[in-house]
Amino acid sequence: MESASAMVLTGGNGQRFRFDAGTLCLEFLLSGAVNPWERLHAPADLAEWIAVSRLGVDGPARADADELVAAKRLRGAILSLAMEAVKDDAPGFKVAGVAEVRIDADPPEPHTVLNELAAAPPPVPVMGADRVREWAYPVTGSQFLSAAARDAIELFSGDRVERVRMCGGERCYLLFLDTSRPGARRWCSMDRCGNRQKLRTRRKIMK
Ligand SMILES: [Zn+2]
Repeated sequence: MESASAMVLTGGNGQRFRFDAGTLCLEFLLSGAVNPWERLHAPADLAEWIAVSRLGVDGPARADADELVAAKRLRGAILSLAMEAVKDDAPGFKVAGVAEVRIDADPPEPHTVLNELAAAPPPVPVMGADRVREWAYPVTGSQFLSAAARDAIELFSGDRVERVRMCGGERCYLLFLDTSRPGARRWCSMDRCGNRQKLRTRRKIMK
């Protein structure tokens, strides 16, 4: 599945693959919600994330220390809601594995985190004489978090929540929104877990 909004990720074995999370809020989990490799260490890392996100930011972005703290709260809230959405489909050991990785001792209620951050103004779209959509720059951390929180509210309060999936790969915890028409997407990426599964099935048949 090739998509302009896919991100290039590197797996534990060093394999690089393209992954499309399908929506802004789930994509934001890639900044370190489940993966032990935290990517947001300093405010500048959040600014960098904003620039590579599927928001399509083609100009300056900036973030401060408070926004970095808020970003991690938002990520935790999105992860809780996503895990709630997949818990009936994903194997129990996977759900437990993700819960273990979370280090928030006393996480706030996810919906209150979303509501609080969504209340701030989102990025402002602007259009030039060339009819190209841009954002009013710089895009700030709180604008980005507002957009991601609004996206999460839309996703987790609507029918599309049924399309939130965890990759079917054995030790893969990637979460995505299945935007395919038939709703049959099972893998983070065909190049990675999809192919592994194909090989496994083939080996089983040959035995
Ligand atoms: Zn996978």
